[in-house]
Amino acid sequence: MGRHGLAMTFDRGCLLDIRDRASDMRWWSSEPDGFAVVDFEGKLVQIRYVVCNVCDGRGYYVNPSIDSNGIDPEEFDRDPGFREDYFSGMFDVRCELCWGSRVIPVPLYPDDLKRLSEWQEAGSDSRAIQEAEQRMGA
Ligand SMILES: [Zn+2]
Repeated sequence: MGRHGLAMTFDRGCLLDIRDRASDMRWWSSEPDGFAVVDFEGKLVQIRYVVCNVCDGRGYYVNPSIDSNGIDPEEFDRDPGFREDYFSGMFDVRCELCWGSRVIPVPLYPDDLKRLSEWQEAGSDSRAIQEAEQRMGA
């Protein structure tokens, strides 16, 4: 896979990872005024809003299946139409984390925050194992 350090936009390995996991990171099911319902336990937690870190507050991003491995600048050179489509937003999809609202709720209290991040870590661990198994051909 050739990566020639094109524009920064294409060199965001960790963000691309986040994109793939965005729907798993959605821990809340609804947001009644100033609160959010924690999806996996049905509890209400008090929240504040921050800019969505998956889409950088845009509400959408380029479909990960298009550029999750990075795009080789040569691909653009070979196919100017593709380049045009890419930059015109043709491959944009709604952000799976904020669902286009550009902000995400964050628990106000450290206890809630801690519980959630533990839940997310547990989730990504089991997914990492799954992916490793798939690579091994399990
Ligand atoms: Zn978002």
